[in-house]
Amino acid sequence: AKEQGGSGRLEIYAAHMHAKVVRRLELQTELRQGLTDGEFTLEYQPVVDLESSRVTAVEALVRWRRDGALVAPEKFIGPAEESGLIVPLGEWILHESCVRVALWRAADWDIGLSVNLSVKQILSSKFVETVAGVLAESGLPPHVLTMEVDEEVLLENPGAAVERLAQLRELGVRLAIDDFGMGYASLAHLRELQVDEIKIDPSFIRDLGTDGTVTLLTSTIIRLGQDLGVQVVAEGIERPEQLERLRAMGCTYGQGFLVARPMAADGVEALVGGAEMPTG
Ligand code: C2E
Ligand code: MG
Ligand code: MG
Ligand code: MG
Repeated sequence: AKEQGGSGRLEIYAAHMHAKVVRRLELQTELRQGLTDGEFTLEYQPVVDLESSRVTAVEALVRWRRDGALVAPEKFIGPAEESGLIVPLGEWILHESCVRVALWRAADWDIGLSVNLSVKQILSSKFVETVAGVLAESGLPPHVLTMEVDEEVLLENPGAAVERLAQLRELGVRLAIDDFGMGYASLAHLRELQVDEIKIDPSFIRDLGTDGTVTLLTSTIIRLGQDLGVQVVAEGIERPEQLERLRAMGCTYGQGFLVARPMAADGVEALVGGAEMPTG
């Protein structure tokens, strides 16, 4: 009787796993269909100079418009990576955002663009050519584009990833380490990679001023950036005291809901007050 109970649980477990696998496969099919049907869209979050509040760049953030609602990337980037769809999706994101920002720049607005990359994309065979092609097509100058990578990129396949990123940098694009401070080897990566920017993880900003260790670490990262000549961007600024503290610590750039939320392209145009900005 005991064994029967055991196998019964096993069956329930197997059924549960099966349902999960089926759901994931369905999601992957829907994602693929969504890309064909044009269901993906981009929001842009302004990055500002903390001293002048001037918008210096935007970060492109992908959204999936599904049955009228916007789905957050946490829900679908993972499955898109597993299925390999991140490669064509990532290419669409890069193309769409480069064309948009090139339009803004053509309207005489000096603005930069940041795009997130996943490791699957970086390691895909034609990646560097793809980026070069998109830059040529959109007319966006390479130094205006920053490619953001998480530290996990360097953990999974360090040699190959570092080489690819070096090739990207040879195109003239900038490299940023996203969510800096979360990986155990953050500092070591600064040595292997030629990095132009580090983005301090929001978890540091959240506890700024309340947690002594976090506060010390944050000011150390900022000083490190200054010493290495690496641009530092603080992410996840939500409260005025965080902004004040970051300013006092000498942090030059920031991003967060306090300053501006991610928004559709026309929202960015309205924010910057460019009624003369091109749309569409
Ligand atoms: P990330 O690259 O670190 O992007 C910043 C995330 O923080 C965004 O979430 C943004 O909406 C959110 N955020 C900005 N300011 C604040 C704030 O003040 N408070 C809080 N609580 N959150 C803030 P989002 O758009 O949901 O993106 C989540 C992650 O998904 C991104 O983290 C990035 O790793 C990934 N992702 C987004 N778009 C893309 C993409 O186009 N390609 C790839 N490969 N990954 C993407
Ligand atoms: Mg990012
Ligand atoms: Mg990221
Ligand atoms: Mg981040």
